[in-house]
Amino acid sequence: MPPEHSKEVTVTKSLRTLAVSGALALAVAAGPAPLAGAVGEGPSYDGNGQITTSKLATYDQMVSFLKDQDARQPAMELEVIGQTVKGRDIHLVKYISDPAKPTILYLTQQHGNEQLTTEGALEFVKHLGTGKSAGILDGVNILIVPMLNADGAMGDVNFSLDDYLAKGDRHLTRYNAEGVDLNRDHVAKVQPETQALHNNVMRKYRIDYMIDLHHQGTRAERDGKLVSGSILYPTTPNADPAVVEKSKRLGAVVFNNVDSTGWGHLGRYQGGSAETISRNGISVEYGIATLLFEMRGMSDHYLDGYALGQRSNGYLIKQTVTTLASTAAAIADGSIADADTSFWDTLAEQTSRPSGEAEDE
Ligand SMILES: [Zn+2]
Repeated sequence: MPPEHSKEVTVTKSLRTLAVSGALALAVAAGPAPLAGAVGEGPSYDGNGQITTSKLATYDQMVSFLKDQDARQPAMELEVIGQTVKGRDIHLVKYISDPAKPTILYLTQQHGNEQLTTEGALEFVKHLGTGKSAGILDGVNILIVPMLNADGAMGDVNFSLDDYLAKGDRHLTRYNAEGVDLNRDHVAKVQPETQALHNNVMRKYRIDYMIDLHHQGTRAERDGKLVSGSILYPTTPNADPAVVEKSKRLGAVVFNNVDSTGWGHLGRYQGGSAETISRNGISVEYGIATLLFEMRGMSDHYLDGYALGQRSNGYLIKQTVTTLASTAAAIADGSIADADTSFWDTLAEQTSRPSGEAEDE
């Protein structure tokens, strides 16, 4: 565990002990029940049920799914771009019909405990092989790197997971096997996962857009209502203003398609300007329009305010599919060029409810 987290872990332990009795009562509450007081803010957050990993695809299940889809889908190619610290193959899903067409990259699970974005990306891959996304592939090349941090996703790491909350067959961690945050490694590029992404994806393809998919804590709100996620464009001063504007258009497509659904409610993420973070670093290094999308709640964590029970899985997976399908379609038909970015001027930064921490990235 990185030393800066040791204090937080101690606090969490005592909170969790208090919360145990309240958890069972909350678990039977239907829907997004009102947040309980401090005692109830335990492992069954918001009445959304137990934090469990049993429904999440394992790395092996993901690979087997991708190989199966690769065999079924003529337009799809599956490539291994490198290996994780523990030797797991890192995969790139490619739909390239014409290199001259615009290309978008979707990246999931730089943080291993943020899995529903991967589940959504796999669902999107399935859609691309059916009539559900017919026509999209004629106008856009799609690259998907799912589960970049497969070791973290499988809890196969070189540090203790004693404090992690989830029930089930495994834990999931933010950090890679060496305890490194991959989304702080986009300048130095020391870790094998980061090197695979940069050497065999970023430098190899002419990419126009990227969405970096994450999960944040559970308690962020906008206009008094808990958010389903938050978004942000590059905020480093070194980003080309034209790239930032293009990133804002990408964000506009996401906002218009997600926030209008009824279940979607997005805030502006409060993000820093460090270029070690992919949203910033990749926009500067490659001139790619980038968007960070943070979905609500993580699949596992050592902090009570971060992990979210499995009852939220459905809409969060759907939120990912909506995001990927709508942006690919808007690029394919060119409508992204007309996306109105003015909503960014009024989109409120999300704030965090007491004892919650919205931060991730
Ligand atoms: Zn993350």
